[in-house]
Amino acid sequence: MTIFAYSQLQEITMNKLLNYIAGTWKEPSNGLWLDNPEPATGDIFSCIPDSGEQDVQMAVESAKKAFPIWSGMTVEERSRIMLNIAQGMKDAFDALAEAESKDQGKPLSLSRVMDIPRAIQNIEFFATEIIHFASESHGGKGVVNYTVHAPIGIVGCISPWNLPLYLFTWKIAPALATGNCVIAKPSELTPFTATLFAEICMKAGLPDGVLNIVHGSGLHAGSAIVSHPEITAISFTGGTVTGKHIASIAAPMFKKLSLELGGKNPSIIFADCDFDETVSQAVRSAFTNQGEICLCGSRILIEKSIYEKFRNAFIEKVQQLKVGDPFDAGTNIGALVSKGHMEKVMSYIELAKEEGGTILCGGKTISPEGRCKHGWFIEPTVIEGLDNSCRTNQEEIFGPVVTLQSFSNEEEALSLANGTRYGLAANIWTQHLGRAHRMANALEFGIVWVNCWLLRDLRTPFGGMKDSGVGREGGFEVLRFFTETKNVCVKF
Ligand code: NAD
Repeated sequence: MTIFAYSQLQEITMNKLLNYIAGTWKEPSNGLWLDNPEPATGDIFSCIPDSGEQDVQMAVESAKKAFPIWSGMTVEERSRIMLNIAQGMKDAFDALAEAESKDQGKPLSLSRVMDIPRAIQNIEFFATEIIHFASESHGGKGVVNYTVHAPIGIVGCISPWNLPLYLFTWKIAPALATGNCVIAKPSELTPFTATLFAEICMKAGLPDGVLNIVHGSGLHAGSAIVSHPEITAISFTGGTVTGKHIASIAAPMFKKLSLELGGKNPSIIFADCDFDETVSQAVRSAFTNQGEICLCGSRILIEKSIYEKFRNAFIEKVQQLKVGDPFDAGTNIGALVSKGHMEKVMSYIELAKEEGGTILCGGKTISPEGRCKHGWFIEPTVIEGLDNSCRTNQEEIFGPVVTLQSFSNEEEALSLANGTRYGLAANIWTQHLGRAHRMANALEFGIVWVNCWLLRDLRTPFGGMKDSGVGREGGFEVLRFFTETKNVCVKF
C-alpha cells in the first residue's frame, strides 16, 4: 500500500487515496474502488474507496471512542490543535493548491488566491471564534436561567466538488471547534485535498477518531452517513435534488439538518452603476471557477437604457478570457470537473438554442493543444433573447454559461430576480443608495451583495432561501447548529 506525503506531491502519478479512520489509513471493506481522473487531461491519476456501510460503521465506532476525549478538552486546547492544523496547511500550501487544481480542473492561480487561503482561514476562524462563543443567562427574582451549548456527539459533513477543500473545511472546522467528532465525505469527484488534509491533521496532533474521512459515492458512502442512527446531525452542501433526498431520510430520524443547495443568482445592473467596475465584476461573478460556484451570477439583468452598451462591453471582456491548462499562468478558465458535467452544461446550451436564445459568444467545447487535448473545456458562453420563465433561465447550469435580460424599472428588475425557485445570492450594481436598500430589502435571497461579489466576512450568516436550502452557516449561527441548546433553570 502506497501512502503519499503531501511533501511528495510532485512525485504522484497514480495512487490510492485511502479512508482516514481512527487516525489511520484504511482500504474500503468491500474492496471497491472509484477512478479519479484529472479534468484537464481526462487521465485517471488516482483512485478512491467506494466505501459503504461497514466503513461508516468503523468511522462511527472510532468517533464514539474519541468523543469523550475531544469534547472533554477545554476550548483553548481544541483551538490550539486546530491552529496547528492551519499551520500545517500553510506549510503544505503549494502542494494543496496544486492538488486542488489537478483534481478539480480550476486554474492554479485561483486555487492559490481563493481555495487554499480560504480553507486555512476557515480553520483559523473557527479555532478562534470558539473562544469567544458565549451563551445567555436570564436573571429573575430568586431564579436564574442559563443556556448551555453542548456538543452534539457525532456529526456528518458531506461536501461538493466545486470548492473542495474550501467547503470541506467550512463544515468540519465549526463541527470540530464545538467539540463534536466528525464523519466527513468529500465529493467522489474531488477527494485529493481532503486526503492531504487528513495527513496534516495526523501531524498536527488531532486525536485519533476525532475526524474520520470516508471516501465514496453519494449512493453508497453518503447514504450510509445520512441514515446512520448514531450520526445525529447532517451538514450537507450540494444540489437541491440531493438535498431533498437527504432531508427525506434524515428528517423522520429527527436529525439536525443544514442544507446548502443550488442557486440561479441574478446580477442586477442599473444604468447608474459604476460602468467599468460593474462590467469587470459581472464577468468575474459569471465565470470564476468556470462558473462552478453556487454564488455565481448566471442571470444578468440589465437596465434597458444601457443594455446594448453593457452587452457589448461585457462580451468584449468575456472574449478576452483564456480557457486552457489550469497550470498555465495565463489561464482564466480551466476544465469542467467531469465529462458528465461538461455534457450536462453543453445540453443546456443546446436547450437555450431550442428555446430561442441567441449565442452571443462561446457555445462550444474546446480541445486545447498539448497535454489538455482530451480535457473537458467549454468556452465562456453568453446567451440573450430568452424569457425568464424558460428552463435555461430557471434551472441551475453550474458552468460557464450566462444569460442576459433587460428590465425597465426597479419593479421589473425585482420581479425577474425573484422569479425563480432558488434564493441563494443576488448582486446589485447601482450608485443610488435608496435603490440599493429598497432592492436588498425586497430580494428573496439569503445573501445580497451591493456593488461587490463574493466579498465574504466569515462572521456573517451564510445560506439560501426557498429551494437554495435550510439553515445558515458561518459566524455564531453554525456554532449553534453544531451544538445542542439546553436551558438550565436554578431557583435559589
Ligand atoms: P451533489 O448533490 O451531486 O453532491 C454533493 C455531495 O453529496 C457529494 O459528496 C455527493 O457524493 C453526495 N451525495 C450525492 N448523493 C447523495 C446521497 N443520496 N446521500 C448522501 N450524499 C450524497 O452536488 P455536486 O454536484 O457535488 O455539487 C454541485 C451542487 O452543489 C450545485 O447545485 C451547487 O449549487 C451546490 N452548491 C451549493 C453551495 C451552497 O453553499 N449553497 C456551495 C457549493 C455548491
